[in-house]
Amino acid sequence: MKKQVDSFREKLESVEHLSWLGLFKDLSEGTHKPSPFYHKRTLRKTREECEHVREKFLQMRFVKIHTKMFGIVHSYCSCHHLCSSLEVSEEVRQYLKTPTFDNWQWEDAEIMVLLQVMYTDLDFIPTFNIEPEVLQQFLFEIYRRYNNIPFHNFKHCFCVTQMMYGLIWLTDLRSKMDSIDLLIMLTSAVCHDLDHTGYNNAYQINARTELALRYNDISPLENHHCAVAFEILERTESNIFRNLSMDQYKRIREGIIKCILATDMSRHNEVLNKFKSILPVFDFTNKDHRDVLMMILIKVSDISNEARPMEVAEPWLDCLLQEFFNQSDVEKLEGLPVTPFMDRDKVTKPSSQTGFIRFVLLPLFIELANLFPCLEQHIIHPVRKALDYYTEMEKALETEQQNRAQSENAAKSKEAAGGRQDSQTDAGPDTSKPESQST
Ligand code: 5GP
Ligand code: MN
Repeated sequence: MKKQVDSFREKLESVEHLSWLGLFKDLSEGTHKPSPFYHKRTLRKTREECEHVREKFLQMRFVKIHTKMFGIVHSYCSCHHLCSSLEVSEEVRQYLKTPTFDNWQWEDAEIMVLLQVMYTDLDFIPTFNIEPEVLQQFLFEIYRRYNNIPFHNFKHCFCVTQMMYGLIWLTDLRSKMDSIDLLIMLTSAVCHDLDHTGYNNAYQINARTELALRYNDISPLENHHCAVAFEILERTESNIFRNLSMDQYKRIREGIIKCILATDMSRHNEVLNKFKSILPVFDFTNKDHRDVLMMILIKVSDISNEARPMEVAEPWLDCLLQEFFNQSDVEKLEGLPVTPFMDRDKVTKPSSQTGFIRFVLLPLFIELANLFPCLEQHIIHPVRKALDYYTEMEKALETEQQNRAQSENAAKSKEAAGGRQDSQTDAGPDTSKPESQST
C-alpha cells in the first residue's frame, strides 16, 4: 500500500501541469521529505510578476482601448503623460455592461483598468471621494493577492465583478438602491475569492488546514477571503473607503462580510429559500429584503460562467475541472475522502454541467428573473442553451461508450471463437483446455 502511494506521489510530482500546486519538483533534488504544506509552495505571485503588471497598469492610464468587431486594438493616447484621465472608448464601456463580455481578450493590467472603469462609471469616485491613486493601489493589491491557480484566480475575480456590474446596469439598480449598497456589491465581488489556494472547504476541513483550524470549520475559505479584503483596506494607501465616515465604513464592512460569506455554496439553499420567501412581497425600501437580494446577486455572479457565450464559458469549465481534478488527486495522495464531483475517474465535462445547471444554476437564476423579468434573455436563455449543449455532449459520449463496449465485446467473442477454433485444431475437441496450458 505504502509503495503504491509513493509511486502515485512520484507520478504526480513528475507531471508538469501540476506545477501550480508546487507538486512538480526536480526529482534529482534528493529524497528529502516534503513539508506538510509542500503543495502550497508555488501559488503566490512573484514580486517580479506583480511589479511588471503594476508598471503596465499605471502606464495604461494613458492608453485608449478600442474594440474592433472581433479583436482588440490598442492605440496610445497622443498626449501621453499629460493626459490625466482614464481613456477607454465608449464602445468598450458599453460592452463592459453586458454579460457577453469576453474576459479572455484582456491581459491582467488591462483588466485592472477595466475594474477602474467600473468604479468610475458607477460614479463611485466623486460620491465616495475615492482618490484615483488609492483605487489603483487597492486594485493592485487585489491583483497581487489572487493566486496563480487554474480557476479561482484574478480573471475569475474580474468575471464575477463584471457580471455584477452588468446586472447592476441591466436591472437599473441605480434607481432602486443607494450607492453604498452598489459599492458594497461591486467591492464584495472584487474581493470574494482573495487568496484562494485551489482547495475547497471540504478539503480544508478534512485536511485540517490552518484555515479550518482558524475558523473552526465554519466557511474557512470565505472567512479568509473577507479577512484578506479588510487587511488590504486597513492600509491607508489602499483603503478606498478612507474618506468615508465611521458610520458609512461600518455599514460597508457589515455588507461586504455578509455578501462574501454568502458565497459559501454550502449555504446555497438557505440563501435561496430566504429569497423565495420574500419575493412575493419584495420591497426595495426594506433593508432585510435588500440584504438578501445583494447576497443573491453575488451568488448569481459567482456561478455565472454558463450565462456567457459558449466560447467564453467553455474554457472556464476546463479551468474549473483542472482545479477540481488537482484537488482530488491530492486527496487521493493524502488518503483523504475524495470529493466525488472532483474525481477525474468519475466526472466528465457534460456530466459536471448538466446536473449543476439543472439543479443549481437554473433554480437560482429563475428566482432572480422573477424579480427582474428583463434578465430572462440575458442570463436564462444562454444557460438553457448551455444545458442543451452539454446534454447533447453527454448523449454523444454515452453512445460512444456503448459503441466502444459493443465493439470490444465483439472483438472478445471473435477472439474467443478464434481461440476455440485454434484449440480445436491444435488440441482436438477438448475446448475446456485453458489457453495458457495450450501453449
Ligand atoms: P466559488 O468557489 O467560485 O466562490 O463558488 C462557486 C462554486 O460553485 C465553485 O467552487 C464550484 O464548486 C461551483 N461552480 C461554479 N461554476 C460552476 C460550473 O460551471 N460548473 C460546476 N460543476 N460547478 C460550478
Ligand atoms: Mn468565486
